[in-house]
Amino acid sequence: MTPILQVEKVSKSFGGIVANSDISLRVNEGEIVGVIGPNGSGKTTLFNSIVGSHPVDSGSVRFEGAEISRLRVPQIARLGMLRTFQQTRIYGEMTCMDNMLISVPHRHESLFSILAGFPRETHDEAEELLDFVGLYAKRHLRAGELSFGQQKLLEFAMALMNRPKMLLLDEPTAGINPTLINGLLDRLNRANKQLGITLLVIEHNMRVIMNLAERIYCLAHGQLLAEGDPEAVRNDQRVIDAYLGG
Ligand code: ADP
Repeated sequence: MTPILQVEKVSKSFGGIVANSDISLRVNEGEIVGVIGPNGSGKTTLFNSIVGSHPVDSGSVRFEGAEISRLRVPQIARLGMLRTFQQTRIYGEMTCMDNMLISVPHRHESLFSILAGFPRETHDEAEELLDFVGLYAKRHLRAGELSFGQQKLLEFAMALMNRPKMLLLDEPTAGINPTLINGLLDRLNRANKQLGITLLVIEHNMRVIMNLAERIYCLAHGQLLAEGDPEAVRNDQRVIDAYLGG
């Protein structure tokens, strides 16, 4: 199997707080991999290190074999990897369609191309992806009028507008009602199987991550605690203790 992402011995501290210590993980092309761990265990910091939100203190991050640990977010996005956030980052006053169109800065880099209007092809793609996430009928509504779960679906579609090879999803189901969770999981699976997008997913909902991920990494206190298939990780005594505060 070909690794698309290789993280080796990455460390990151904030002042005296060691948020990530010597973390190594590997995601193969086409996989769905989960990241779990109690609050404060370093999951978000790890995502930020991978996508270039902040420089790492030490260690290496390779995407498709190329070292990217010195690159920043826009450069890494152009290579085909980006993240979504726990809190959605959409413009509530703009329509769903306009949110989709402005979410492709990595493809329309000059102000001129934005002022000149988006090409027909970009409109078509935005409509197709809104259809993909089940929001086509709401494309002319203001994004702020959508339910929180629908806003998450919109944000997911906005990320897809960048034609990523790999997406890092930060708690995609947080705050979503159980009915929409199934719809979202279906979209994530289809994005993986049909569009070929590799997924690395932080998730607190154990039922969700057990069903979604092929492999899981568990962090605790900034360190990698366990790794393996979902069943093995769930039954790992160190993981159980970490969740019980041990
Ligand atoms: P998780 O996502 O697992 O909840 P985080 O990566 O957010 O964990 O946090 C790991 C540790 O790093 C926590 O102790 C947190 O307070 C600290 N931390 C994260 N980001 C910062 C920051 N920008 N400045 C200071 N401390 C931070």
